[in-house]
Parts: sequence; C-alpha cells; structure tokens
Amino acid sequence: MLEASGNHPGGREFLERVRDLEEGSEAAFMNWLAAETPNDVPDLFDVLGIALSHLGRVATCVWGCEGTDGDHLERHMVARTASNARAAIRLLLGGYISESMSLIRGIEEVTNLMLLFMVSESDLEEFRAAVYRAREADFSPRKVLGKMRNLQGPDDQELRELADKSPVSYSEFSQAFTHFTRAWSPASYTISRKVEIVEPFVKTVTLAGLVMVANSVSAALIFAAERLILQTEEMADATVTNLELIRATRAYQEVSRVEMRLSSQGTAE
Ligand SMILES: [Zn+2]
Repeated sequence: MLEASGNHPGGREFLERVRDLEEGSEAAFMNWLAAETPNDVPDLFDVLGIALSHLGRVATCVWGCEGTDGDHLERHMVARTASNARAAIRLLLGGYISESMSLIRGIEEVTNLMLLFMVSESDLEEFRAAVYRAREADFSPRKVLGKMRNLQGPDDQELRELADKSPVSYSEFSQAFTHFTRAWSPASYTISRKVEIVEPFVKTVTLAGLVMVANSVSAALIFAAERLILQTEEMADATVTNLELIRATRAYQEVSRVEMRLSSQGTAE
C-alpha cells in the first residue's frame, strides 16, 4: 500500500487533491481574466456558451434534419467541433495546457476542412465519396492546408492568407504538444512543482488556447449558418452570436499569437 507523503496523498484522496488543483487553476484564471478584460468587451464565457449551445442544436438536428437519406456529414463536423471545444475548455481551465493543445490541433483540422468546403463544393463531394484510405491520402491536415493555399478564386484571398499565417504550423504544434519529444515540458504537472515559475506563462497560454477554440467555434457557426440552419431567424441569431464571439476574442488576439509562438519554441521553463 502506497503511503501518503506531503503533497502526494494516495487513493481517492489523490484524485480529490488533483480536482482541487484543477478548480484552483480555474478560479485563478477567471480572476486574472476579469482583471485583464476591458469593460466594453463581451464576457468570453457567456458568448462561448451561447455559441456552443447553437452548435449543439445544429449537431442534434433541432433546427432541421436531412433525414435518413442524408449522411449528416456536415452535422458531424459541427458536433465534433462542439464536443472537442467543450473538452478543450475543461482541460485549459484545469491547467492541462499540453493536453488541451493536442486536442485543439484536432479541432483546427476540422475547422480547416469546414473553411475549405465552404468555398469548394467539389472538395466536399470528393470527401463525402472517399473511402477511409482515400480520405487519409487526399485530405490529410497538410494536404488541406495546401488546398486552401491553392484556391484560385477572387474571393478566396482571405482563406489563402489564413492557411499561410496559420499561427502555429502542424509540425510546430506536433513538436510542441502532440508527440512526445525531448523538448516536451510538463507545464501542467504542478502537483509537485513550483507553480509560480510557470504561472504567468500558463495564464497567457490558457487564454491563447481559449482564443483558438473560440475561433474554431466561430468558423463552425458560420459553416452551420451557411449550410445547415434553414430558418432565417435562427440563422440571424447565429450570425449575431458569431459577431459577439469575434468582439469577445479580438481584445486577446495579439497576446495569444505572441504567446503561441513562445510556447511552440519550448520556453515554458
Ligand atoms: Zn438529422
């Protein structure tokens, strides 16, 4: 039987201690964010909640359904974004930075697919028809970014730039957070470490992660409003929510870009 020692109780108490740390991390972050946020900016969590509620309704066919004939592919993309986003928010607030970034990388892969499909119906149809291996070959995250960069239409400028300026490239993301490498640092493993060393870094990277999640939620709302929400009133609601989400995150946009670059260079220590 493992004896309790200092910060390391055993058994159920260990998990309770972990839960306390997660809640403490969330409370500290919320206080910090409230102090950092200008008065005229909408509450990020308020707007994220509204947006995720929208996505949840779209995902579960509350506002329309293509019936048993449809494959619900687009709805599944919205559903995946919504549930991954909810999980990523829990991880971020609990102090699990690396773990959340791994999930956010997956969220961004689906976001890029949605952005591509909004301007290229032929890619959507190709994806829909593809069997598993073909999807792997033609729609890998790297190939999707390539497809975005190669769009030729006069209205595709924004998407081409987005693919070019993707704040953290897939290889950087994978290197920093997803795969285990020698550069990986246990930024969230604070149960036996000196929290104060990583704390300012953790708060800003948590915010950066939230902005990334919010950007993907925003893209999913646009995708849903364009393709899946049929009633005008609900579509207008989704658009208003999206504008609020953009307002809520804009204030934090710059700090998050800088911090993401820092984090991908392994300066967490
Ligand atoms: Zn349905």
